[in-house]
Amino acid sequence: MDYLKGLNEAQYEAVTALEGPLMVLAGAGSGKTRVLTMRIAHLITNLVDPFNILALTFTNKAAKEMKIRIAKVVGDSEARSLWMGTFHSVFARILRSEAHFLGFPSNFTIYDSQDSLNVIRKVLKELNIDADLYKPKKVQARISNYKNNLITVKAYFNNPELIEADERANMKQIGLIYQKYVDVCFRNGAMDFDDLLLKTNELLTRFPEILAKYQDRFRYILVDEYQDTNHSQYLIVKALASKFENICVVGDDAQSIYSFRGANILNILNFKKDYPDAKTVSLEQNYRSTQNIVNAANVVISKNVQQFKKNVFSENEEGEKIKVYRSLSDADEANFVASNIWEMHNSAQRKFTDFAILYRTNSQTRAFEDALRRKNIPYRVYGGLSFYQRKEVKDLIAYLRLLVNENDSEALTRIINYPARGIGETTQNKLIVFADSQNISVTQVLDNLGFYAPRMSLNNGILTKLSDFWSMIKAFQVMLKTENVYSVTMEVAKRSGLIKFLKDDQTPEGISRVENVQELMNSMQGFLEEQIQLDDGDASLSNFLENIALSADTQTDKNDDDTDKVSLMTIHLSKGLEFPIVHLVGLEENLFPSFMSSSTREEVEEERRLFYVALTRAEKQAFFTYAISRFQWGKITDAEPSRFLSEVDAQYLEFINPAIESRFVNHSGITSNIFDDLPSEPRFYKKKEEKKTLQRDEPIAIPQNLKPVATARIINPSGNSSQDIEVGDKV
Ligand code: ATP
Ligand code: MG
Repeated sequence: MDYLKGLNEAQYEAVTALEGPLMVLAGAGSGKTRVLTMRIAHLITNLVDPFNILALTFTNKAAKEMKIRIAKVVGDSEARSLWMGTFHSVFARILRSEAHFLGFPSNFTIYDSQDSLNVIRKVLKELNIDADLYKPKKVQARISNYKNNLITVKAYFNNPELIEADERANMKQIGLIYQKYVDVCFRNGAMDFDDLLLKTNELLTRFPEILAKYQDRFRYILVDEYQDTNHSQYLIVKALASKFENICVVGDDAQSIYSFRGANILNILNFKKDYPDAKTVSLEQNYRSTQNIVNAANVVISKNVQQFKKNVFSENEEGEKIKVYRSLSDADEANFVASNIWEMHNSAQRKFTDFAILYRTNSQTRAFEDALRRKNIPYRVYGGLSFYQRKEVKDLIAYLRLLVNENDSEALTRIINYPARGIGETTQNKLIVFADSQNISVTQVLDNLGFYAPRMSLNNGILTKLSDFWSMIKAFQVMLKTENVYSVTMEVAKRSGLIKFLKDDQTPEGISRVENVQELMNSMQGFLEEQIQLDDGDASLSNFLENIALSADTQTDKNDDDTDKVSLMTIHLSKGLEFPIVHLVGLEENLFPSFMSSSTREEVEEERRLFYVALTRAEKQAFFTYAISRFQWGKITDAEPSRFLSEVDAQYLEFINPAIESRFVNHSGITSNIFDDLPSEPRFYKKKEEKKTLQRDEPIAIPQNLKPVATARIINPSGNSSQDIEVGDKV
């Protein structure tokens, strides 16, 4: 039992207490996830069938990593039969096999948040509701909130308090929008992300025999990051565990950072109420980080009033102090981080994967991407607009969705005239209006075009186009019965005219669109190979679509996990992960804490927990950066350092700003080199006309024959204005 040797006493206790309810409540880096992983290995070693184990993780990535670790102890084939993944992916899988109980097709489409926003926009339009008063995103958040609290449309209309609350918020029409939204999704055979949980709850409450079936299957249930489960998730777990009560949850209240999505810290408190006999274990030793990092994180989180007091310590090396860099602008900040990574990569022989850049909001990525790219540092952005949400990729996927689920009218409207085939908006509207008037779907109209055509005023030319389009879709469907998904998709991309349409655009953007389509094909190839290797592999198109709909966290350019890249992500996405060196950037008031969440104590406390999460990702070293001015919302704004910086006791920090002047080396009177990786003899190329007094942030066009190699600051001779520019060699 080698795997048990690497555990401390408390961890050992948690791993080996196989039966009964158990909660591990402990600080960051104390081995909660490790306990969960080893517990699963231990269960299997003790002859529990992996098929009877359900493990719920926070990201797909986490599930994948845990599976690999478990496989090392119990072997591949055992690990493969585990039910392990995010709530959404596990329950999507269950819903697929039980969908008919709820009146959904088993090939239901999963709407990501963009799709669902599109539906909301259409609903608003149909109901003639002003989208300025009812901002679609706000409506979406409200509906999501209802769903996560299991408030169905019916429950909503039966609850005068909710209706009144919405009236007070000047959102009296919400109920109506909600109803229509749910109707449209149902008609389209689609579920949004929240539905995956809501419908699972519905399934388990309305059909006792189904509940019993899954209770018997999931005899052992384990949940990581329990502090961030919402009400809907809580109820699912509770229902499934109620028969055997072999439930183990691990979490840290100090890392609860999803309350804006309905995460409910009370779930931890309720655990003891729900299972009065529950065993609780606390872990105190942090194995991840240096003492300096752990102590700094502890000081900050202790400022929160709302928390369980915990003792967290590290016996690792004391480590270096956290270096704090004050930058002049967001571009300067990004350049510092990129140079720092470059330097540590070269001098300290660090791999690029050792580095993470963590930020509060997605919009901060661009500056870092630019700076890294200039230095040719490979990087990977997690989250944000994922690969599968890029327009050209979504367009091709829409064709595939339509093949699997004809009723998916979102997909249909996306591609019926894309690439353009003469089926304009007027025609589309006629179809929709007619279908509505007959109480049938557009698909049904298209299926029986000959029959319905005389009752719609469509001319023969249009009719031919419609029937050509629909026969093409039908032909793809037939092909799907005999050919693999890769060949079918290739055929779709060609015959629909999509590839040709994209290839006609020879601009760099156009070329990259074609490459993205190619990348989608590659990821499909990867999927096929993966499924073939699995015992219970499912190489169907609907499984492929489900995988990508749920892959928001793993994202980007397919299977490149092993390559050496710097990770860029929001703090939210970094939860549970660890990196030797972390750059926590944008530590400014109104950015972090965010201007949207610094008005109440509760909000600031959640931001502080975010800060705690970010800092505790670092193993060896952490860097804090902030800018004194930042380009935001289209203008330069002055920024103040974040309050969290001052909350970290100064003994843990080291300010590394060199005196500003010393960073400039005179060159040709106006150009100076600020970054170390420039050649000692700057080989700048300067155009004569640029030798003028430059205003700060005044843009300079870089001549096309220049290859940027670094960033330099230009100051005018009097020294009272400066600007960062890209400089380079002649190519
Ligand atoms: P978080 O709250 O951030 O999710 P966690 O409590 O889940 O953290 P883990 O990720 O499980 O912590 O562990 C943190 C690190 O410490 C991991 O690299 C893990 O391998 C290591 N670790 C945990 N327990 C031990 C131990 N007993 N001996 C050595 N290393 C350990
Ligand atoms: Mg963890």
